[in-house]
Amino acid sequence: MKVLVINAGSSSMKYQLIDMTDESVLAKGICERIGAGGHFKHKTGDGRSYETDVVMDNHTEAFIQIKNALLDEKYGVIKDLSEVSAVGHRIVQGGSLFSQSTLIDEKVIEGIESLIPLAPLHNQAHVQGIRACMEVFGKDVPEVAVFDTAFHSTMPQKAYMYPIPYEYYEKYAIRRYGFHGTSHRYVSNRCAELMGKDIKDLKIITCHLGNGSSITAIDGGKVIDTSMGLTPLDGFLMGTRTGSLDPSIVTFIAEKEKLSPAEMDYMLNKKSGFLGISGVSSDDRDVSAAAEQGNERAKLAIEMLEYEILKFIGSYIAALGGCDALVFTAGIGENQYSHREKVCHQMKYYGVEIDDELNKKTIHGAEAKISTPNSKIDVFVIPTNEELVIARDTKALVENK
Ligand code: ADP
Repeated sequence: MKVLVINAGSSSMKYQLIDMTDESVLAKGICERIGAGGHFKHKTGDGRSYETDVVMDNHTEAFIQIKNALLDEKYGVIKDLSEVSAVGHRIVQGGSLFSQSTLIDEKVIEGIESLIPLAPLHNQAHVQGIRACMEVFGKDVPEVAVFDTAFHSTMPQKAYMYPIPYEYYEKYAIRRYGFHGTSHRYVSNRCAELMGKDIKDLKIITCHLGNGSSITAIDGGKVIDTSMGLTPLDGFLMGTRTGSLDPSIVTFIAEKEKLSPAEMDYMLNKKSGFLGISGVSSDDRDVSAAAEQGNERAKLAIEMLEYEILKFIGSYIAALGGCDALVFTAGIGENQYSHREKVCHQMKYYGVEIDDELNKKTIHGAEAKISTPNSKIDVFVIPTNEELVIARDTKALVENK
């Protein structure tokens, strides 16, 4: 079975075609600048690739590019479109409606649409992606929705409520949902596998550290708390996002600078975090390089990040009543070993001990247990693979149809 995995954004769409017989990636690529020109990149598992400027006015035209690439004589990986057995879509916001992956029908599309107010940019684009996929691949190809929020749906109410008047929860469904669920699910399950234990017997803290970052506390395979909230802005500082703040800061700055809600939203989401503090870049590599050259604000941004990660881990150890394993994943978690080192060295109190040399070497997609045999908590670096989870869920649902 071959499964096409789609991650549709408002102006971009990523895809991967996965052969489920051995879970290998046959091809992957991205349609960029949809509706504003258009650029298309395609790469096959055996290393053939091309990229080109091509006008894509909407998601349907983007899907046509994907279809053509997959079937192309020189760069293709299938002979006939019927070889694509199913399509799995990444959906950011599943709200309280979807607690697991589901086969897509009109009712599901309506459900995803009804959640657009909670994730305006994302869910709108996902619906466009689903409809465009039906147009180009045909209505007979089963489509599956895999939600970023679903893994977090086990959180108890005390963890997901915000202490604002209850009516806003009832009226607008304002609560913590959490994101990156597919990644937290993948790495926590992989962690249990690597430990040779049933996940039901483990307390795991997973740190997904990328442009967007979140940390999750998982007890027996079930999320009990996570750092992102109603939106992916909550938690701790990220590339350009603030993470949580004293809420009064928002009204204070809005009043002083005469900024509208939309302008405040932009500042909090796009101008803050690493970029806002360092003034250098949102990218951890640039900020780390600047810090090494003595840039004080870059150093501060890094100290703040490491401190926040440490505080979240500490509070989740308390919430879990212990911790068997700590996992680092995503761009920063998988590559920026110095943050892992700082955080883990600060956790001596908890009996954490890592092999510094092994930690340094574990980058660029390597998977390893970086803690020593003496460590009271096992520490892992596990490259995330959200696409594979989406493909596996899609296969399972389609086979059990
Ligand atoms: P996203 O949240 O957009 O998926 P990523 O998980 O790709 O982001 O993480 C991007 C971050 O990872 C950037 O801050 C970048 O500096 C950092 N990073 C460090 N080393 C690497 C690397 N070798 N490859 C990719 N990202 C890296």
